[in-house]
Amino acid sequence: MPTTNWAGNVVFGAADVAAPGAVGELRHLLAQASSAGGRVRALGSGHSFNRLADTDGLLVSMARFDGIKGFGPDAGGHEVAIEGGVRYGQLAAYLHRCGRSLANLASLPHLSVAGAVMTATHGSGDRNNNLAAAVRSVDLLLADGDLITLDRGHPDFDGAVVSLGALGLVVGVRLHTEPTFEMTQSVHLDLPLSVGIEQFDEIMSSAYSVSWFTRWQTPVIDQIWQKSVVTGLPGSVDLDHSVDLVALGARVATAPCHPVPDVDPIACTEQLGVPGPWHARLPHFRLDHQPSVGHELQSEFFVPRTVAGQAIEAVAAVGSALADALLVSEVRTVAADRLWLSPAFGRDVVALHFTWRPDWPLVQPALGAVESALAPFDPVPHWGKVTGIEPRVLRSRYPKFGDFAAVVDRYDPDSRFSNAWLDALLRG
Ligand SMILES: Cc1cc2nc3c(=O)[nH]c(=O)nc-3n(C[C@H](O)[C@H](O)[C@H](O)COP(=O)(O)OP(=O)(O)OC[C@H]3O[C@@H](n4cnc5c(N)ncnc54)[C@H](O)[C@@H]3O)c2cc1C
Repeated sequence: MPTTNWAGNVVFGAADVAAPGAVGELRHLLAQASSAGGRVRALGSGHSFNRLADTDGLLVSMARFDGIKGFGPDAGGHEVAIEGGVRYGQLAAYLHRCGRSLANLASLPHLSVAGAVMTATHGSGDRNNNLAAAVRSVDLLLADGDLITLDRGHPDFDGAVVSLGALGLVVGVRLHTEPTFEMTQSVHLDLPLSVGIEQFDEIMSSAYSVSWFTRWQTPVIDQIWQKSVVTGLPGSVDLDHSVDLVALGARVATAPCHPVPDVDPIACTEQLGVPGPWHARLPHFRLDHQPSVGHELQSEFFVPRTVAGQAIEAVAAVGSALADALLVSEVRTVAADRLWLSPAFGRDVVALHFTWRPDWPLVQPALGAVESALAPFDPVPHWGKVTGIEPRVLRSRYPKFGDFAAVVDRYDPDSRFSNAWLDALLRG
């Protein structure tokens, strides 16, 4: 039976999916594929929406690389070593038991760590980086069977962390952890959009992690989700009460909300200000439920934080062109990092996300409208989501793209880990 991604919009070209559980098995598969002249691609949890993970060669599921090795050997003993196929939900439960945490999570805990790191997956928070920024070392199995470890400080490290699966198979990573912490999550409804834009900085810094959800159909932000630290995270300054959203015109939600209108919030993590552990509040969706809607496509664009208000106004101006295709939009912030292929490389960014109906003919013109509206701000798309922005344009928007391409050439000189999508990105 053909294998598809989570959303079902990509049917992978590989005839079969291998699911090895040890490095020796991976080496054997690589050698076999090599004698057949074939290409190899890793599959994480399959949550990307484009052909990034696709191959007509050998698709290798990393799901059985799900071991958590434990802490050390860094000085503080606070770095956790895991295999590449571990999912955030599994890791979070382990860390919490050990009194540790990750600084941030995406909207769902179902993702594999390596797959999320490869695409610079992010959550929200003015002072929070994307999830790849927690990586302290990467264990890479190269096409010739060599297993290498790149630590922070290695000259290629910043190019190898967010690397789209282009260098080799990530069999392990070490991640920086924080002390465990407690959070609350609360939702406000119907803030006037003009106020949201005017007070953008104050609102986005009003809690540890803040998200807007809206459909751009009326001049209001439908929902504002604030995730606030209650106890346990040293150095986190929560300014949760510095902005009174009610005084600004919003209403407090008195029942749990789902980001998408009229969807049962049963899948959402607990709201209404009830304290709970970080991993049960940072993601919007619970591990034991279907995240988001299930039948959907997604796109997301990052623009510099400095043009946040203008970019939001530009999207709002094309709101009517999105009405039929859009389920919901989310606005988040991500702090600058130094990873070459991170959309936040060298600058704070605002992420404008779109959850679409799973109907490409409907989505295509709406996506085009968004991309045209954002074009003056030189947006970069999420690596794992749907975009019409051409590779040539994308390359020009990453100052270190040439260095990344050179690293790919050195680590994978025969393009064994490439596919049509990467060929286009690197050379198209
Ligand atoms: C419902 C939903 C909600 C989402 N929410 C968010 C969100 O809040 N924030 C956000 O930023 N993104 C979000 N995403 C997008 C998602 O985070 C990315 O697509 C991410 O890459 C998915 O991780 P994965 O393990 O499924 O990777 P896959 O889609 O399986 O793979 C992604 C890439 O990583 C490579 N890869 C995977 N594992 C390995 C490995 N071990 N070694 C080498 N390469 C590997 C693959 O070859 C591919 O190139 C969401 C997606 C869905 C479906």
